[in-house]
Amino acid sequence: MHELALMEEIVRLIEQDASKRNIGTITKVELLVGELSNALPAALEMAFDVYKLQKDNRLAEDAQLIIHFERAKAFCPICGQEYEPQSRIVQCPSCLLPSGRIIAGEAFRILTYEGSLTS
Ligand SMILES: [Zn+2]
Repeated sequence: MHELALMEEIVRLIEQDASKRNIGTITKVELLVGELSNALPAALEMAFDVYKLQKDNRLAEDAQLIIHFERAKAFCPICGQEYEPQSRIVQCPSCLLPSGRIIAGEAFRILTYEGSLTS
């Protein structure tokens, strides 16, 4: 489950930012996760729960994870059609050429997070 490693990296990045802003406890994390990003939302949620229980980070015990899922979308420059690709091999359903360009679904990033200031 590589989502554990991904979540570790996310927590580390947020903690770095939080320490600059004097944020002691992180209460909410929002991620944008594309369908083609190779990260499964359910596995990310499990990984988040694992890190919440650990004491060596700034995540609150009841911190929330919100995942915004981005569907895969491709565009065919030959015929101009937009469609949902079935995989990374993007064959246009209209002209049947593997000419599609992925325009959505590859995202994987931290959108925002919330926390409380160190007292
Ligand atoms: Zn086409």
